[in-house]
Amino acid sequence: MKFSKIKLTTPYLNLAPVFYEKVDPTPLNKPFLISTSQSSAQLLGIDEELALDEELINIINGKTKLEGSQTFAMCYAGHQFGQFSGRLGDGRAINLGKVNGQNLQLKGAGLTLYSRHGDGRAVLRSSIREYLVSEAMFALGIETSRALALIGSETDVPREKWEKGAIVLRLSPTWVRFGTFEYLNAYKEHDKLQELADYVIDESFPYLKGSQDIYLKMYAEIVKNTAITIASWQCVGFNHGVMNTDNMAIDGRTIDYGPFAFLDNYNPHFVCNKTDTQGLYSFSSQPGAAFWNLDMLARTLSPLIQYELCEEVLDDNFWTTYHEIFTKIMLEKMGLQTEHEEDKELYQTLLRALASTDIDYTQFFRKLSRFKGEKSDILDTCINKQALDTWLDRYLQRLEKETLNEALRHAKMLKVNPKYILKNHILQEAITRAEEHDFSMVNELLKVALSPFEEHLELEHLCKATPLLSKNIKLSCSS
Ligand code: AMP
Ligand code: MG
Repeated sequence: MKFSKIKLTTPYLNLAPVFYEKVDPTPLNKPFLISTSQSSAQLLGIDEELALDEELINIINGKTKLEGSQTFAMCYAGHQFGQFSGRLGDGRAINLGKVNGQNLQLKGAGLTLYSRHGDGRAVLRSSIREYLVSEAMFALGIETSRALALIGSETDVPREKWEKGAIVLRLSPTWVRFGTFEYLNAYKEHDKLQELADYVIDESFPYLKGSQDIYLKMYAEIVKNTAITIASWQCVGFNHGVMNTDNMAIDGRTIDYGPFAFLDNYNPHFVCNKTDTQGLYSFSSQPGAAFWNLDMLARTLSPLIQYELCEEVLDDNFWTTYHEIFTKIMLEKMGLQTEHEEDKELYQTLLRALASTDIDYTQFFRKLSRFKGEKSDILDTCINKQALDTWLDRYLQRLEKETLNEALRHAKMLKVNPKYILKNHILQEAITRAEEHDFSMVNELLKVALSPFEEHLELEHLCKATPLLSKNIKLSCSS
């Protein structure tokens, strides 16, 4: 079946009208296709490659409706930087409907009831970032919304300067956010909390159906999934930047990519979001921020589940899951198969050593995946090498306890330590070219984003070291 022939359903519209606004997209002027992800297309259950034709552009531009589609914006609230912000909602995202467990959404498709002071648009720059990183996170094995296609246009959009409007067709098994529940609680729609919880169980946790204490179990799943996602962020060096509760997906996956960054050197205090002057969402604050958001959710759910019960689940499960997953991934990154008492201390010492030097976080682990005892292969590229030098000696000693041979260990490590990571400087290069109508680099980046562990010798310029002046760039929320 072709993409243009898929049939959508709209289960979200079976909820009470308070949950959404039915609204049509406002198409962009002179739209053109920039990129598609055939990998995402596979999620829709279509058995052909996406045809890159006018029909596809019209669908993404909101001009042509897929069969069964009824377009709508979702209502939600949220705590932004620790403060309750009241009603937010999809101010520029318009949902098309659902197929094969994926909810299709156009981001940047025009005004909705929830646009507040915004213009309902997304600019090319931020759309390229969200499109590529969605696919990158998936390939890195981190739960995330996906991106099927990106279109550009000639629609002028005012930001700090005039920019061009774009639309990303995003996919996610759910677009319900912590903030969706917060809206109902804040606006005294308490009877609707259960309606939404039932919807969430149906959509994201159907295996819970029929069990006792089902809402508490739902909360426990949200806690677990969120902890897993955040532990994965910490291991890959991902800084989300805007962990407001309206950007927290109810099934724990990563959504709403704004001023995100992958770390250059390992700096736990790094803040990628220029507007986050307090460092509330700094790299090392992310697990704590997730915990705080989960606590807000527990309070919001209190008309449905006794708060103390949720609190117990949160206290008992969040950090346990977080540390379990973090440790598991870290040991994989170091190539350790057997478990030894000193391993946790070994990676903690490593992180301290990495923080004391300027070596690139991603490149360090890639080099470690080929490390044969010649320390200069790693140390030659960094300054303040003392702590890392000492650590490598310890690591070599620890490796003696491993039973797997070196070649197999290296092969396994190369599958968990990516060669390609979407650093801001490389994304910026692709954006600058795209703004001049050259989209080749966007598509090259998509290729490495979707297979970050492969060598791609012809694309090695995409993993070059971050130029000094482009290190640790902070981005604004403008998008
Ligand atoms: P974000 O920081 O992108 O997650 O956005 C926070 C809220 O602002 C969400 O409710 C968005 O839908 C809304 N928003 C962001 N940008 C715009 C825009 N240009 N037009 C309308 N609403 C927007
Ligand atoms: Mg958002």
